[in-house]
Amino acid sequence: MSSAQPHFLIIGGGITGLSAAYYLKKRLESDGVKGRITIVEKSSAFGGKIHTLYKEGFVIEKGPDSVLARKRPTIDLAYELGLEGELTSQNPQAKKTFIVRKGKLYRMPQGLVLGIPTQMTPFMQTGLISPLGKARAALDLIKPKRKGVSDESLGHFLQRRLGKEVLDRVVEPLLAGIYAGDTFKLSLKATFPQFQAMEQKHRSLILGMMASRKNATGETAHLPAAVRNSAFVTFKKGLQTLVHGLVHALKGEDLRTNTGVASVNKAADGLVEVVFEDGSREVVDGVIITTPTYQSAELLSHLPAAASLKQIDYISVANVIMAFDRKDVPIDLDASGFLVPRYEDRTITACTLTSAKWLHTAPSDKVVLRCYIGRSGQQEWLQWSDEQLVQKARHDLGELLGVKAEPLFTEVTRLPKSMPQYPVGHLEQVARFRQQLADALPGVLVTGSGFHGVGIPDCIQQGKDAAVQLAEQFKQ
Ligand code: FAD
Repeated sequence: MSSAQPHFLIIGGGITGLSAAYYLKKRLESDGVKGRITIVEKSSAFGGKIHTLYKEGFVIEKGPDSVLARKRPTIDLAYELGLEGELTSQNPQAKKTFIVRKGKLYRMPQGLVLGIPTQMTPFMQTGLISPLGKARAALDLIKPKRKGVSDESLGHFLQRRLGKEVLDRVVEPLLAGIYAGDTFKLSLKATFPQFQAMEQKHRSLILGMMASRKNATGETAHLPAAVRNSAFVTFKKGLQTLVHGLVHALKGEDLRTNTGVASVNKAADGLVEVVFEDGSREVVDGVIITTPTYQSAELLSHLPAAASLKQIDYISVANVIMAFDRKDVPIDLDASGFLVPRYEDRTITACTLTSAKWLHTAPSDKVVLRCYIGRSGQQEWLQWSDEQLVQKARHDLGELLGVKAEPLFTEVTRLPKSMPQYPVGHLEQVARFRQQLADALPGVLVTGSGFHGVGIPDCIQQGKDAAVQLAEQFKQ
C-alpha cells in the first residue's frame, strides 16, 4: 500500500489533527518519504476547541485555558516549535481554591490532589466535611483493596474508598470540571487509571496518593525554569500560540479551512476515498480522522464498527466571561476560583478568577471572571439565550462573591456536545472498534479527545501516535 508520493489527509483541525499533521510531516521527513499532507477543517479557523480572543487589552480563552504542566506532550511540542519562551505560569499568590457549601465559600483543605487528601491534618480540620464524613474517608486507610481489576465507574470507586460525602462535596465538583460528567457513568480506567493502580499497589487510595506525591519531585524537570513550579501552564498570548505555531510549522502543506468531509470510504488498491460536503472527492493513501466521535461515526456510517462510536455521549457546556474594573470586585484576589457541587442547585458549576490566576489575561486595573455552566444532568441551559446565561451567572456571582456591578463587557461561549463521557468499558470498546476499523478500512485511523484523554497533552499524544502508526505503513 504505497505510491511514489503518498498523500495523507487529516480530517479536523483541532489540536489532535494539527499535532497529527505536524508529527506526520516530521516522521515522513526523517524516514526519507516524500509525502504530501492535507489537513481539512470544517470551520473557518484552525484550533477546534482552542480559541483565544484578544479584546481591549484582555487575553480571553473561550475554550481551554491551560495545560497540566507535568504531562510532557505539550511542553515537548512547545520546545520543538521554539515556543518555550512563551510559556507562563499561574500566579503563585492565587493558589487558594474554594468550594461552595450551603451558599458559602469554604477553602479547600491544603494537600488535596484531585480531591484526594494527601495531608490528614488540614483535611480533618476543614468545615466542608462533617466528622462522620471524615471518619468514613479515613476508613480508606484500612479497607481492603478490591479483588480484580475490571472497569467500574469513577463514582462507584470513589464512594467505595472515601464515602459519599467526600465524593459529593469535594471530589465530584473537582473532577466534574474536567469531564462535566456524572461520575457514576464515567469509566474509572479511561479517566483516572492511576486511582485503580494506587488501590492495587497501596491498598488505600490516600496512601497511594501520598506515595505518588513523594515521588513527584522531578516530574516538572522538563519545564523551562521560569514555569517549573506551576501545576498548570499556558502561553503569554494564550493557547492559540500553540495553534499558530503548528500552522506555521506546517507551511508548505495543504491546509484548508471551510472544508467539511461527508464520508470516508474504501477505494481500489488499498487507497481511501474522501467525499467532501460539497460533493467533490479525493483518493488518498491514508487518512487520520480527529473529529468528535459522533462526527467520526457519521463519516464512517457505512461501517458496522461506527455504531460503537455513537455510544459515546457528549455533554454541552457554556462559559460566561465578565470583565470588571478592579474597584467593582469586592474580594481578595488571592484565589484561583471556586467550585459549585451539583446539590447546591445553582446555574454555575464553577468560577475561575481568571485575571488573578493568570496575570497576563487582563490589564492590572481590571478583573476577569469566568463562570462555567452545564454538566451531565444540567443541560437545560441549551434552551437559554446568551442574555439569560449572563443574567443567571451574574445572579450567582452576586450571591456568592458579592459582585453586583455591571460588567465592562461579557463574552458568552456555547460549546454544544463538547465534553466526551467515556462509559464504563470504554477502553475495551475502543480496542474492538479499532480492530474492526483496521480490518474494514486499512489506512484509516480515528483518534482524538473521544478516545484516550480529553486534556490537550493527551490529544497531542494521540495525534502523534496516529501519525507514527500511519507513517510506519509507508516506510521504505
Ligand atoms: P476538537 O478541538 O473538537 O477539533 C475537532 C475539529 O474537527 C473541529 O475543529 C471541527 O470543526 C472539525 N470537524 C468536525 N467535523 C468535521 C468534518 N466533517 N470535516 C472536517 N472537519 C470537521 N483541556 C485542557 O488540557 N485544559 C483545559 O483547560 C481544558 N479546558 C476545556 C474547557 C472546555 C470548555 C472544553 C470544551 C474542553 C476543555 N479541555 C481542556 C479539553 C480540550 O480542549 C479538548 O479535549 C481538545 O481541545 C480537543 O481537541 P480535538 O482536536 O480532539 O477536537
